[in-house]
Amino acid sequence: MGPGPTILHADLDAFYASVEQLLTPQLRGRPIAVGGSPSGGVVLAASYEAKAFGVAGGMPGWRAARLCPDLVFVTGHVEKYQPIADRVMDVLADVTPLVERISIDEAFCDISGAQHLFGDAAAIGALVRRRVRQEVGLPISVGAARTKHLAKIASQVAKPDGLVVVPPGGERTFLDPLPVDLVWGVGPVTAQRLAARGIRTIGDLAATPSPVVERLLGHAVGHRLHAMAVDEDPRRVAGGRHAHSVGAQSALGRHRPTRELVRATLAHLADRVSRRLREGGRAGRTVTVRVRFTAMRSVTRSLTLTQPVATTLTLTEVAERLAWSAITDQAGAEITLLAVSVSRLCDQRVLQLELDLDPPDPWRPGSPPGAARWAVDASMDAIRTRFGRDAVGYAPALLTHRGMPDEFRELAEHEV
Ligand SMILES: [Mg+2]
Repeated sequence: MGPGPTILHADLDAFYASVEQLLTPQLRGRPIAVGGSPSGGVVLAASYEAKAFGVAGGMPGWRAARLCPDLVFVTGHVEKYQPIADRVMDVLADVTPLVERISIDEAFCDISGAQHLFGDAAAIGALVRRRVRQEVGLPISVGAARTKHLAKIASQVAKPDGLVVVPPGGERTFLDPLPVDLVWGVGPVTAQRLAARGIRTIGDLAATPSPVVERLLGHAVGHRLHAMAVDEDPRRVAGGRHAHSVGAQSALGRHRPTRELVRATLAHLADRVSRRLREGGRAGRTVTVRVRFTAMRSVTRSLTLTQPVATTLTLTEVAERLAWSAITDQAGAEITLLAVSVSRLCDQRVLQLELDLDPPDPWRPGSPPGAARWAVDASMDAIRTRFGRDAVGYAPALLTHRGMPDEFRELAEHEV
């Protein structure tokens, strides 16, 4: 037995719905839906009382109303969500400076340096839950383990309003009986392919030799999923000063992924991210795209380029390629969120022109087409500085169409 769990994953339960129940006491204990109506629109979040009837975020309002006749639809105190979630993050930051926020309402914490102050993972998990309940008034579930992947699975198992600590040495006992689709990145198609080979639990997947899984799912995906199943996840909590990435995300409601929608959304996000990079005189080599599908299932794809990127068009193209690799893997399932981030950052104040390489690669900033992209962005940045953000932009990013109210869109587009 080595040291105890050092990573927490803290995740607020049914966050938007819980905030509404906090602000309006008459809604407590009742099935509520935030967003949508019995005649239309999309439910953005459901309380646990509504989830018990099968109501879920991303569902059309009419369907939710049919599943749960007593469902109360609320429009939502949208402006309150961000500050309330920030207060929860402040509680986490009191425990450790190493907090990696991965969405508005969830974060990883590295507690290895906090245990001499607050006790072991179970004590810290209980402390966080108690403080968030008392000081903010919301239920939060916490998972603790020695890896990020396992801590996240533990918090999902802990829901609603629970704490699950996976003790060192107890990883296999915990993981083995769980369904394989709790592993990050296993979608319905992958799950089906695995089931066809008799692989239904995480234990089944771990017991299958990695080369067999790789032959079944492709080398990269098979290798990664097998590593997760055997609990090999070396990723560290990227918090505090060590956070070296720039990103943005956009919630979409619920949509079939069309070329137009994906391109418009990614162009919009790439525009925001690359502009922030350029403002900071930075560029980055690793591009990561996260696609969230219905049922809150997220798939992440990354690509590390030979040269750093900070131009809008290049980032859009790389992000598109990554997003489609994830979407194709999920057999075109409906998507609810896209996120783009750039990491492995470096200073990029001066563009180094390179000798002509054949063929000229526009993704390389020093190639002739790459340099042209830099020039276009530099002009657009200058115009926007003078005339405002919407004065100019790439067409796909301007032609956005989304099935959600503007205020939700802005909230969901908070920088991550
Ligand atoms: Mg949550």
